[in-house]
Amino acid sequence: MRIITHSQVRNLLPMRDCINAVTEALSDLARGAGVQPLRSGFQLPNREGVMAWMPGALASGKPFGVKILSIFENAVEQGLDSHQGGVMIFDPNSGRPLALLEAGAVTAVRTAAVSAIATDSLALPDASILAILGSGIQARSHLEAMLAVRPVTEVRVWSRTPENARGFADEQSALHGLPVQVAPDVAKAVEGADVICTTTGAREPIVEGQMLCEGMHLNVVGSSVPTCQEIDTSAVARSSYFTDRRESLANEAGEYINAVREGVMHAKDPVPELGEVLTAAHPGRESASEITIFRSLGLAVEDLASAQLVFERAVERDVGVSVDLTG
Ligand code: NDP
Repeated sequence: MRIITHSQVRNLLPMRDCINAVTEALSDLARGAGVQPLRSGFQLPNREGVMAWMPGALASGKPFGVKILSIFENAVEQGLDSHQGGVMIFDPNSGRPLALLEAGAVTAVRTAAVSAIATDSLALPDASILAILGSGIQARSHLEAMLAVRPVTEVRVWSRTPENARGFADEQSALHGLPVQVAPDVAKAVEGADVICTTTGAREPIVEGQMLCEGMHLNVVGSSVPTCQEIDTSAVARSSYFTDRRESLANEAGEYINAVREGVMHAKDPVPELGEVLTAAHPGRESASEITIFRSLGLAVEDLASAQLVFERAVERDVGVSVDLTG
């Protein structure tokens, strides 16, 4: 089995290649190929963190595996990622473990890659003003991902801790060579934006329906637990709402659960999946004035497709350490 570290994953998984790999995985899943059970997890006895595992299988002939994670929000204060663990993939023919990859790097890139796919499928083609809410790992990878799919010329960032927003703006502006403005509040950040990415751990809604304008596209990425939500019910009511996996919504998406409870959405009406848009089973955006929301919950097949790509490159370039677990 090959062990592949954080920096090795980052080197072997450019955003554009990850977008292509995950597009294929989501399309396969929409066509009925692959297996995607719900993720599981439990609160640890000390109440400070969660242990979670996300199993899945790509289409026939491709790897299966699992992402195993701890989620400790306070790990950030110790200079660590909030999500730590590994993605393990197995050979589909022999069942042999192939690789263990550092999960944080895979999660950072693949989550933003999925949002890029959603943006490319649902946002207006000339979307150029981007608002990012949050200034952490996902905020960074989402800026890179949005630049890969839309002609972004203006970026606004808002974050709960203003100095983190300032740090993000200085760093990312220098990295990408474009202006990144710090917004004093969420309303100012999203005002007139074409694409909005919410990448926070907010427990209560920070985006309200009244802040949204015709033609906007939102990638709602953070707060993927049923007790938290980044957008309010009126934002859901005003929008065409898409997701990565219907089955995950009722278990993991706070704004969806509340929208159903309040009668804004009906549990029996199927929410379209991104894979259905990719395979033309759903038309996606149907008018320029529509507001579209992509609710990202994160799927194992997205991790596995990224891990397969990294593994194949690691073998080609002899990157990582090979260990014989049976030795
Ligand atoms: P980071 O810890 O790097 O960043 C967290 C961000 O959330 C920070 O900008 C922080 O703001 C902000 N934040 C935290 N709590 C609150 C709050 N109560 N209200 C408003 N803002 C808050 O985390 P990541 O970037 O790795 O993850 C961000 C979110 O995305 C998390 O909720 C995570 O669970 C989710 N996620 C979703 C995935 C998916 O597939 N959909 C995959 C991976 C993560 P500040 O620093 O300014 O205080």
